[in-house]
Amino acid sequence: MANEKRAVFIIFGGSGDLAHRKLYPALYNLYKTGDLKEHFAVIGTARRPWSDDYYRSTVVESLKDIDDDEKMMEEFAKHFFYQSHDVTDSDHYIALKQLAAKLDDQFDTGSNRVYYMAIAPRFFGTVAEHINSEGLKTNGFNRLVIEKPFGRSFDSACELNSSLTKTFSEEEIYRMDHYLGKFMVQQFTNIRLNNPQLEKALNNQYVSNVQVTLSESLGVEDRGGYYETAGVLRDMIQNHIMQIIGAVAMDKPAKLDSDSIHEVKRDVFDSLKVLQPDEVDRDFVRGQYDEDATGKLKAYRDEDNVDPKSNIETFAAGKIMLENSRWDNVPFYVRSGKRMPVKSSRIDIVFNDKIKELGLNPNTTVIFLIEPENGSSILVNGIDYKEANQDFISFPEDPHFFDNEREAYENLMIDILDGNKIHFTLWNELQNAWKYVDVIRNQWDNETPDFPNYMSKTMGPDAAAELLERDGNSWVWDD
Ligand code: NAD
Repeated sequence: MANEKRAVFIIFGGSGDLAHRKLYPALYNLYKTGDLKEHFAVIGTARRPWSDDYYRSTVVESLKDIDDDEKMMEEFAKHFFYQSHDVTDSDHYIALKQLAAKLDDQFDTGSNRVYYMAIAPRFFGTVAEHINSEGLKTNGFNRLVIEKPFGRSFDSACELNSSLTKTFSEEEIYRMDHYLGKFMVQQFTNIRLNNPQLEKALNNQYVSNVQVTLSESLGVEDRGGYYETAGVLRDMIQNHIMQIIGAVAMDKPAKLDSDSIHEVKRDVFDSLKVLQPDEVDRDFVRGQYDEDATGKLKAYRDEDNVDPKSNIETFAAGKIMLENSRWDNVPFYVRSGKRMPVKSSRIDIVFNDKIKELGLNPNTTVIFLIEPENGSSILVNGIDYKEANQDFISFPEDPHFFDNEREAYENLMIDILDGNKIHFTLWNELQNAWKYVDVIRNQWDNETPDFPNYMSKTMGPDAAAELLERDGNSWVWDD
């Protein structure tokens, strides 16, 4: 039985892509499970002058791909209200405050507020400051949800954080990293803790190297303008890949609560071995996609809203080292890129031959598939763990354990409503991730790359394979 939640959501950017593609479907699915029922309302804000009815029709439209129960969708949409809003206009915040108070009464929401920033990052600080100056906060809970990117560098992230913390405490800020909402990433800690042999093996005695791959098969599509300001380093490595490393490399937490988990995660980020500028080209490789072999797919430089001479990277691979007693000398190889052969998110843990002591064959690789397989299999020696019949890893008896279809945004929305911060990025983690990435960005910005350097639908530039070969290793997943 779902535990019904209460809140008024204020979605800044309610007419945008993120709201329609991710937030409304996630809220709807929570409505269907009963997590949201009677006691919630959503105020969508954006600049355009829309009526509630029109706004509701866009919300229903956004659900058409996931359901055909029109009656349910109409009932759901009755909880939605529209407020035209310019982020810099104080009067608009007063109107928002009044509408939210009215909806508190109408839906009995306990004066709880979720302020969701589905707008361009340059507005995050302005909106938060107006929430403060116009007194929007209530005596219920007040939670601010921030989408990526959280800054463009360590300095700009600090600036953004200071502007937010004038209004919201760290406790009230939920920094979204939707990879942390994915089922297999969320299960990783439980799987570790339920499998003492695996837990015992996750250290430099038994692990040869760890590989994290987040590959995409698509190019930049219609997001060339955004991508030109980001590149894969800021878009994927600084946040998603770093957070996955945090989950794999952290020590066993004292308890499974947010404070305990973030305490051990913080230690991982504190131990990141930041590169010297002259080490960047040794340990990191960047790439940009060219056409595919048939010439049907465009090169990155020919995409819409992309500079024809762009030096933005669409692929990066690197070797990240941690300086702590658990992981000293174990490379964490990471890579992410667009226009790779398929979309795949996976963690490959390659053990050395000492793993025999724990009952596994030498050089076994344990593979955690995050997507698109939705964690449907874990391979030991390339064989599905059930068939491999290993004692090393076992899973709950429930045959539907891997069937979890809940979208990342649904999981995270529930966490926000429950005040559970386990799967959100804390400020101290983020600072270290930026310090790490800034060195690479600065070095790359000072050198002219030889782009494009990989063909679309391939595994990236050859240098990505050579990076591992130099250490006597190779990528486990190689198309
Ligand atoms: P979008 O351009 O589709 O939507 C932006 C929204 O902001 C619109 O509703 C627009 O009306 C509103 N807006 C713009 N200027 C405004 C102003 N002056 N006052 C009030 N409202 C204004 O953008 P999006 O793709 O939905 O992205 C929103 C945020 O989410 C961005 O921070 C983006 O980086 C982040 N994000 C988006 C995605 C995605 O898949 N779209 C994924 C991850 C993160």
